[in-house]
Amino acid sequence: MPVCLKHPDRESTARCCSCGKPICRECVVRRGRSVFCSEQCIEEFMRTTGRTNGFIARERAFQRKKLLVRLLTTFGIAIAALAFAWYYLHR
Ligand SMILES: [Zn+2]
Ligand SMILES: [Zn+2]
Repeated sequence: MPVCLKHPDRESTARCCSCGKPICRECVVRRGRSVFCSEQCIEEFMRTTGRTNGFIARERAFQRKKLLVRLLTTFGIAIAALAFAWYYLHR
């Protein structure tokens, strides 16, 4: 096993899930089932694996829904305007 980057006298027990750096037991930052070397790496990991992250997936689904509602509203207004124009022209 390689040694910990912060403690060259210690053997690493894990590797950061984000940057792959070897880390010792003391330096491990746990988040769920994954281990990281720092908080920054957790953030980086959450960003890059957002698709598999439940929370972000839900957040994205919500954003998509909002976009769909906006699209439908725009579409609805366009239809209403067309219907109104059609009614106005064919009176
Ligand atoms: Zn890292
Ligand atoms: Zn260490």
